[in-house]
Amino acid sequence: MITNLPTQESLNKVALRTYFRAWNDLIGIWSDFSMHFGIVHIKSAVAMWSDEWSEYLLEAQSDLQAICSLLQQSMELALKARICAVSPYLLLLDTGMKLSASPKQIDFSELRTLDAVDLPGAVNTLTDSPISDDFIGKYTTLRSLRNKIMHLGEASVSLAPEAVLRQAVSLYLSMWPDRNWLSDRLNFAAQTRQGWLHDGKYTSTHMDILHEWPIDVEFFTKGEFKKLFGHDKSKRRYLCHYCVDEGDTRYAGLDKPGCGTAYLDPAGKAVSCIMCGATVAVVRKKCTDCEGNVVGDNDDDWTGRCHTCGVDIGEDVEPLS
Ligand SMILES: [Zn+2]
Ligand SMILES: [Zn+2]
Repeated sequence: MITNLPTQESLNKVALRTYFRAWNDLIGIWSDFSMHFGIVHIKSAVAMWSDEWSEYLLEAQSDLQAICSLLQQSMELALKARICAVSPYLLLLDTGMKLSASPKQIDFSELRTLDAVDLPGAVNTLTDSPISDDFIGKYTTLRSLRNKIMHLGEASVSLAPEAVLRQAVSLYLSMWPDRNWLSDRLNFAAQTRQGWLHDGKYTSTHMDILHEWPIDVEFFTKGEFKKLFGHDKSKRRYLCHYCVDEGDTRYAGLDKPGCGTAYLDPAGKAVSCIMCGATVAVVRKKCTDCEGNVVGDNDDDWTGRCHTCGVDIGEDVEPLS
């Protein structure tokens, strides 16, 4: 019999972990550059040091190729997860598995599974969760790029990080349309080597992601943002005190208004966070420290705390009428 059969959940989890490893490395290409030149705003750093950026990108090609390989691997695993949802045995289809009359145990990982090239067809033939032609086109391009890298050590194409980012967003939306991108970004960042090293006091995973979040927001197009988060990119974002408190470690130095991950509900009575999912009651009061007027109004520690700048204005300020 075959042991250690994969499950949809186990494959999907590895697919997402691989996807966000690629994302982390991709954002690192910009953030390392801007940090080197001491400019916080990434697009300003690239514009101000454009010749250096072009030279830097030549040296970044092998990183970009590795990132594309990770994205391809992630999609391959996610496609296998969809097939596995029907039956893990379907992954062994047409792989020439030898059958033996003498009973023995075989570990699933020892067996050959469906080739990457056959996965889109297998998903669309065998499952009730088909993938689009657009996805198949992108997957095929990535697969052939990865093959070149694997067989020749490098690809002859020149990769632009922004094009890779566009592709990464599109792949996520096609593969996981019902998942929460920001919550996944946080959860899978916690399941890394770096995540393990955080102590929550000096550094934390929330800190890493809240540093990255303004960069992510700037790179997402209006359309991508709307599809990923269900809100207009231009809509005002508020601080989630749960997430900010987790991220505001001793070494964090967070740029508070930029860390907004929460949205005001249509009635203006609560804010809901797209990272942790928390919803907390708010009241309209004029902040004493900024132009904001959405303040915590719940029974926990955040009564009187401004959702724009994070400052505690106390409980004596009267609500706006
Ligand atoms: Zn939150
Ligand atoms: Zn404020």
